Amino acid sequence: MIVVMDLQVGEKELQAVEEVLQEYGYQCHLIRGENRIVVGAVGSGSGEIPPNLETMPGVEKVMRVMQPFKLVSREFKRDDTVVAAGKLRVGGGFVSVLAGPCAVESEEQLKEAARAVKEAGAVGLRGGAYKPRTSPYSFQGLMEKGLNYLSNIKKETGMAVITEAVNPADIEAVAEVADIVQIGARNMQNYPLLREAGQLRKPVLLKRGLSATVEEWLMAAEYIMSGGNYEVILCERGIRTFETYTRNTLDVSAIALAKRLSHLPVIADPSHAGGQWRLVRPLALASLAAGADGLLIEVHPDPARALCDGPQSLNPKHFSELMSEVAALVPVLGKTLCRGEA
Ligand code: PEP
Ligand code: MN
Repeated sequence: MIVVMDLQVGEKELQAVEEVLQEYGYQCHLIRGENRIVVGAVGSGSGEIPPNLETMPGVEKVMRVMQPFKLVSREFKRDDTVVAAGKLRVGGGFVSVLAGPCAVESEEQLKEAARAVKEAGAVGLRGGAYKPRTSPYSFQGLMEKGLNYLSNIKKETGMAVITEAVNPADIEAVAEVADIVQIGARNMQNYPLLREAGQLRKPVLLKRGLSATVEEWLMAAEYIMSGGNYEVILCERGIRTFETYTRNTLDVSAIALAKRLSHLPVIADPSHAGGQWRLVRPLALASLAAGADGLLIEVHPDPARALCDGPQSLNPKHFSELMSEVAALVPVLGKTLCRGEA
């Protein structure tokens, strides 16, 4: 349920409301929006509303949240959440592009990719150190060494770094280097990992699972937020359908839908959606037109030699061309594109 408070409510009154809710078994989350202060009460089990709650000082009204996801829901928080990491901003009219190789392969490869994507206007650098691969015989990532390279390049370029955590035991180490911790599609319902992500005080990018419904995706985000980490970015990366000409099917409607259902920023990953570099441009532009707050794009200095996801990786020239189109489109949509030098 949400308890909408008077904007002028005092700390004592807020505390009294939280205490009553806690007595009824609720966990309280305080959301201070621009136009209202809300106490979000979740997880009581019974869902019983304390009888005198509505008449307590400072309380404007009490409302039940009808959706199964609560903290994630727009019913809970009307204003867009803006997630920021360094100069990167997503949501609330800000658009950012995060780009880089699928996997960190060597320090040279990462440096080359970082310089290229930064020059083209990306504000975030992606690169997996831990790779969740379908085959146990495929390149699994450089792990700690990869994290070290990411840490060095971050110092050198000032870019916000996003990298994936695949194991709850490694998430702290990943979060020490990452500005945004990625949870991959295969782990969207890895609940111990989501719980650990909820303990971080650092943005988390949550990819939609390969066959997850929008509701399951938002419920996964609820796991992270219920731990007290409110900085969640949703990422549509394509879902499994009957189509075999594409790696996955970009669910454009899910972008628009998630923006309606949730206040969280939603970005798109056209690389994993299409699985072919030629599809990245149209899918990226379609995602922005549908309301995406950002893009996650695979760029490799030499895609033909990539150890992972080469066929869907843009080379620096194609990425730079795409960025020019993104820079032209974003203002038409009434939004602001974040750039590294801004
Ligand atoms: C990735 O970003 O490289 C990745 C593994 O993505 P996904 O989890 O969407 O497959
Ligand atoms: Mn990849």
